[in-house]
Amino acid sequence: MTQDILIRAEQLYRYYSGHCAVKNVSFDVRRGEILGFLGPNGAGKTTTMQILAGSLAPSSGQVRINDFDLLDKPKQAKQGLGYLPETPPLYRELTVTEYLAFCARLNRIPRNQQAGAIASAINRCGLKKVSKRLIGNLSKGYQQRVGIAQAIIHSPSVIILDEPTVGLDPIQIREIRELIRELAQKHSVILSTHILPEVQAICDRVQIINQGELVLTDTIAGLSQRMEATSILVRFDA
Ligand code: ATP
Repeated sequence: MTQDILIRAEQLYRYYSGHCAVKNVSFDVRRGEILGFLGPNGAGKTTTMQILAGSLAPSSGQVRINDFDLLDKPKQAKQGLGYLPETPPLYRELTVTEYLAFCARLNRIPRNQQAGAIASAINRCGLKKVSKRLIGNLSKGYQQRVGIAQAIIHSPSVIILDEPTVGLDPIQIREIRELIRELAQKHSVILSTHILPEVQAICDRVQIINQGELVLTDTIAGLSQRMEATSILVRFDA
């Protein structure tokens, strides 16, 4: 694995009581890129993201993060990864700062670095003016920023964002996409989504998953050319 490949997933399979949700999925995540993981509902995106994040074991296959095997060296591998699940477990009765302090401890950030890590995550995610407010009282857009802040608090090299704009209004969607672009200056990003224009707007490369299998990997420019040539491979929402 070269230094420019931060995640390598090889031949991932995942079965749910006989049903194959992820089938022979292999791909790399490169340094500095926003990689779109695009597919319709039920395609296997969340299952793949959960496997990468180490919260779900694959039935078979291997994941290496920063050259650490996720099964053999889970602590070291997970250190390189931040994860915003589709429905993040936010603690609505905590303030933003209290919640991020909890996340800093969970991520084993050394005690003398926790305040700096929390302040940096708050700053980078545009949460300064709501840092003392209860999470439960924030708008959906701000709650999503809090979810993203917990994903970057330990300065991982890659962040996984699973459907980060679902349920947001158009202004919040635009702001979250801008935030993702800013974060990508420091972290590689895997953006899991069913929204084709979202991938076209912010990603460098795209992988399309359908019925558990990767059916296409290309740059965004390459994807546009193929779509013109074949007039669409899989149907997606706007
Ligand atoms: P969505 O955006 O709708 O969540 P997805 O692309 O993320 O779709 P997955 O959630 O990974 O897809 O689901 C892939 C397939 O696996 C689907 O057929 C789904 O019904 C099935 N599946 C997912 N989780 C489970 C589970 N815990 N038990 C049984 N089947 C599951």
